[in-house]
Amino acid sequence: PLTGNEPVEDHQITVCVRKRPLNKKELNKKEVDVISVPTRDQMIVHEPKNKVDLTKYLENQKFRFDYAFDDSCTNEVVYKYTAKPLVQTIFEGGMATCFAYGQTGSGKTHTMGGDFQGKTQDCKKGIYAMAARDVFTYLKSPKYKPLNLIVSASFFEIYSGKVFDLLADKAKLRVLEDGKQQVQIVGLTEKVVDNVDEVLKLIHHGNAARTSGQTSANSNSSRSHAVFQIVVRSPGMHRVHGKFSLIDLAGNERGADTSSANRQTRMESAEINKSLLALKECIRALGMKGNNHLPFRVSKLTQVLRDSFIGDKSRTCMIAMISPAMSSCEHSLNTLRYADRVK
Ligand code: ADP
Ligand code: MG
Repeated sequence: PLTGNEPVEDHQITVCVRKRPLNKKELNKKEVDVISVPTRDQMIVHEPKNKVDLTKYLENQKFRFDYAFDDSCTNEVVYKYTAKPLVQTIFEGGMATCFAYGQTGSGKTHTMGGDFQGKTQDCKKGIYAMAARDVFTYLKSPKYKPLNLIVSASFFEIYSGKVFDLLADKAKLRVLEDGKQQVQIVGLTEKVVDNVDEVLKLIHHGNAARTSGQTSANSNSSRSHAVFQIVVRSPGMHRVHGKFSLIDLAGNERGADTSSANRQTRMESAEINKSLLALKECIRALGMKGNNHLPFRVSKLTQVLRDSFIGDKSRTCMIAMISPAMSSCEHSLNTLRYADRVK
């Protein structure tokens, strides 16, 4: 497995997988770990043949990716190989995206938003914050300082095809597309930031908004995509120079939940399913010529990220999160198959 000392490869599309450790609850239930990471780029699912005799496995299912992170990897190491190489992209005038994909409970928010200790989240240890930290390092570097770029951040949630501003009491926002297919989220809060601490405050604020009132369907974080964006703009004209979108996707098991008796749930699931399928197509097509026919408009997620999938300077990274427990085996296989087809 990766130790963190291996060189970082240069890809336009990076696809990797991360296995989290079994948690206390799973250990208490005597859950078995069915995932192994034998090399720095392989993940194997050991699917039990029958749930009584766990020593008998079906044929192991092997998958290969750019990187496979095992349960000993820290967020810092994951960051180094995934989002960190994309910081340069936005300074060079490109668009960057980093997605956390996986079932609910697999570690998406832990990876993107930061470690939870007790009830408080240490967002400094999340990819959002580490990316912000490096954005300021680049901003002050001799190479990019003369550009006088202005950094700002926004944070929104896409739930059931609607956009909510996480930095403005979850105000519902409209998405407009002009004749030139430029997509705009009308009234989205974009706060100018001068240092990491200011960004941390925004992340904290947005995370709190995201998880508040978890009982109302509308704020159920497993059913929504959260999008944190760092935008760098040229001075004067305020033209977008580069944009980094970091996305904590809805739980992929929610997309499969289409047989629910509840109409609302069924519609939400269909929407999640549609958006994750469209996302896969859009990433795959990144860097290809003539990708105007892509299913951007099929979902709000791909529609608002449209400009990040076009242009030859765009780069993306997907981190597929895996729960190691045997009871998550089916979901893990689905996640690995999806990630396998992204590239
Ligand atoms: P998701 O956002 O995918 O639903 P979370 O990030 O909330 O999942 O993770 C579920 C639980 O597992 C949380 O308590 C989180 O702290 C823990 N967890 C996730 N990934 C790791 C990891 N790599 N190491 C330790 N704990 C983790
Ligand atoms: Mg989450």
